[in-house]
Amino acid sequence: MKMSRTFVPVLRETPADAEIVSHRLMLRAGLIRQTAAGIYAWLPLGLRVLQKISDVVRAEQERAGAAEMLMPTIQSADLWRKSGRYDAYGPEMLRIADRSGREMLYGPTNEEMITQIFMSETKSYRDLPKTLFHIQWKFRDEVRPRFGIMRGREFLMKDAYSFDLDEAGMKESYEAQFRAYLRTFAALGLKAVPVRAPSGPIGGDMSHEFHVLAETGESAIFYDAALEDIDIDAPDAVERLSATYAMEEEEHAKVADCPVPADRLLKRRGIEVGHIFAFGTKYTQSMGFSVQTKDGGTIHPLMGSYGVGVSRLMGALIEANHDDDGIVWPDQVAPYRVGLINLRQGDADCDAMCDDLYERLSAATSVLYDDRDERGGAKFATMDMIGLPWQVIVGPRGVKSGVVEMKNRRTGEKMELSPDDAIAKITS
Ligand code: ATP
Ligand code: MG
Repeated sequence: MKMSRTFVPVLRETPADAEIVSHRLMLRAGLIRQTAAGIYAWLPLGLRVLQKISDVVRAEQERAGAAEMLMPTIQSADLWRKSGRYDAYGPEMLRIADRSGREMLYGPTNEEMITQIFMSETKSYRDLPKTLFHIQWKFRDEVRPRFGIMRGREFLMKDAYSFDLDEAGMKESYEAQFRAYLRTFAALGLKAVPVRAPSGPIGGDMSHEFHVLAETGESAIFYDAALEDIDIDAPDAVERLSATYAMEEEEHAKVADCPVPADRLLKRRGIEVGHIFAFGTKYTQSMGFSVQTKDGGTIHPLMGSYGVGVSRLMGALIEANHDDDGIVWPDQVAPYRVGLINLRQGDADCDAMCDDLYERLSAATSVLYDDRDERGGAKFATMDMIGLPWQVIVGPRGVKSGVVEMKNRRTGEKMELSPDDAIAKITS
């Protein structure tokens, strides 16, 4: 992609109303723009990152045996009346009416809808277990939308739903998602702490939140330092992590005798990036979903639901990956892997070398070519701000001696290389 064609409105000034660094940098790097309170447009670079985060989430869901589908954002109020949640949900739900006055809503979550869809086609134990997920926009009319997309009103969520025949099956599905979450956050390069959670309005017994540690996090969490030594790839990781003490401050305050010795009890701030629940027959019972069992009886399937804040993760990633000059994207979510800078746009030799590099690099990886008629200083600042992992800089002096400069955004390391060697280094 060429900078002259795409839309990256980088801001020189720090936006006054953005309180935390990720919000400031998302505005400054031209990733998002607010269109109404807590509602954001995703500009080209922001959208690319959102898609890459979604890809990581999706890959781990599929690895865990969950199948992707897509449910609509708009739901009917009647569906929610079946579970009794239409009245229970409160003012966070955006209620709308269609032209005939039928009550609708913008989905804050999808338990009712998935149950309705799945139950219509499922009569027998043979069709279970199953875990289905989608990555879809949600709307919650938050009392205090803040920190940009961290607590938005419209936000992107991965939500998965499991259906099982018995408690043991439900526990297995829950653990499969638990493990998928550990892998997802690790694949994004984030350290996430699974915290035992009260299950809240969704209901149920087993529930964990996943918090990415960050000083700007909205939640305070307490946990046993021993948790940090658990290898998430070990076969017993889920078991050990769920057995290790970790609690949100509010819940921790209710615990009479904290089992963790004082010198091992850590207090940190965290961003809640995921929340999983197993709630049994809460919806299948209220919505009348039963299946035939092997021995001819009937049961209500047991369910779990599993959310990841896909758009909130972008905030968490930036909180963990930035410096004074801007964002420092990890490779796996960077909007482009390489930023190509032409220091003398319009100079025939510089243009020719850039065109050649652009074509060859694009064949191997993703490249953003800054081909604008701008000063070098402005191009450097922009490229640092948007944080692509590699910069390839072409200037008249280098062109004469057949070299380009390459900079690693994270380490700041710079090297002069021939164009061939630069390509080889980036694509190796
Ligand atoms: P919170 O306590 O932050 O309000 P929640 O418990 O309401 O979260 P869930 O209903 O479990 O959240 O939703 C699953 C995930 O969706 C959360 O873990 C979070 O990462 C994300 N999420 C929830 N609300 C928002 C929001 N307003 N903006 C962005 N992401 C959100
Ligand atoms: Mg909430």
